Amino acid sequence: MTFKDLNLTEPIFRAIQEEKYTHPTPIQQQAIPIVLQGRDLLGCAQTGTGKTAAFAVPMLQLLSSKPAPQNRHIRALILTPTRELAIQIDESFKAYGRHTRLKSMVVFGGVSQHGQTESLRRGTDILIATPGRLLDLINQKYINLKQLEIFVLDEADRMLDMGFVHDVKRVITHIPQQRQTLFFSATMPPEISKLADSILKNPLRVEVTPVSSTAEKVRQAVYYVDKNDKKSLLIHLLQDKDIESVLVFTRTKHGADKVARDVVKAGISAEAIHGNKSQNARQRALQNFKTRQTRVLVATDIAARGIDVEDLSHVINYELPNVPETYVHRIGRTGRAGASGIAISFCDSEERAFLKDIHKLIVKTIPVEDNHPFPATNNPANNKLAPMPQSIDKHRQPRETNGNGGNRSFGNGTSRSQNSRSGRPQPRTGKFV
Ligand code: AMP
Repeated sequence: MTFKDLNLTEPIFRAIQEEKYTHPTPIQQQAIPIVLQGRDLLGCAQTGTGKTAAFAVPMLQLLSSKPAPQNRHIRALILTPTRELAIQIDESFKAYGRHTRLKSMVVFGGVSQHGQTESLRRGTDILIATPGRLLDLINQKYINLKQLEIFVLDEADRMLDMGFVHDVKRVITHIPQQRQTLFFSATMPPEISKLADSILKNPLRVEVTPVSSTAEKVRQAVYYVDKNDKKSLLIHLLQDKDIESVLVFTRTKHGADKVARDVVKAGISAEAIHGNKSQNARQRALQNFKTRQTRVLVATDIAARGIDVEDLSHVINYELPNVPETYVHRIGRTGRAGASGIAISFCDSEERAFLKDIHKLIVKTIPVEDNHPFPATNNPANNKLAPMPQSIDKHRQPRETNGNGGNRSFGNGTSRSQNSRSGRPQPRTGKFV
């Protein structure tokens, strides 16, 4: 199937071509015709599947096909949990809608509302919002949703995680009963199903890449390492210049700052992004990362949600998440829209239970990479090997390629097995937990 088969109008089709999209992704193939028919939709899809275009493209087409109202008013609302996602969704609407006369804008908290209320005064057709700021502006009468035609609830499960469900329900009391509703969630826990049932009318369901099936193109590896050696292992891996652009995940904001500082001390450009940073600092860090001025972006899960960077080659889980679904979300940052990617996870002794949960969820065991100089004490996959001195390290064998035609590296995979002169036991490679 190509975009030609989706009956898009010329202005939208032209914008898609300018984006250089040739084929619709599976969620787009399924969702676009349903939305164009005016039906409600329940989409089970995670970020990275092309979900944004799956709703933005048909919405733009529906809205631009009707005669423009005399007074510009909000005709479509997209509610999304984070500022980063809101900004990216707005960028998508602007890109796909660039040949229409529709206007979109975004509102989110954590910044002065003045610029947002000024834009609202000038009028918009499409509003992308995070729930808290939206409710504030509704209460102050800057926003009126009485003439809303289409409502999109994006990342509903994340709304639940972040404690926004109550706010979402309050927003729904401000929109007309008669509307088209599109509901997206990566997972469908019972509370989310209940919410979907309460706001959708006779929806059609589409589902792609369920959360338990990790992006197939992403090569995954786990490195058993002691907690105190994680910093050294990270810096060791970053010596590999093939790791051009890497997103490193930590569990805490404090941890993100510390890892970024350690990496910078080692002479590698790095920045941290998390909820304690100002909106401007976060945007700047993201922009530096996108433009490759910064090689390493260290992020917490919430801050990273929705980071959409083209061609991100590597994700490193400096710390494993205790919620297994989060692992799937994290590694979904790489290997996007068909590109190959590599996800490396550090696992210390306290995190082995988390790894077990991840294996259960993804129904496979992540291969162990034990060709590295900082193997864990009591490595479940190997005996303890002392760190390799730098002088021997220099003689490492050429790095591995990813074996499926790509040339992305798993990092500075010191081939100790070849270094028989070290006189140490030969590590086993390519083994599974
Ligand atoms: P999303 O899941 O909406 O966050 O999209 C993930 C990435 O895929 C974004 O960078 C989009 O620009 C890109 N993308 C979306 N649809 C397509 C497509 N049909 N072909 C190529 N790239 C796409």
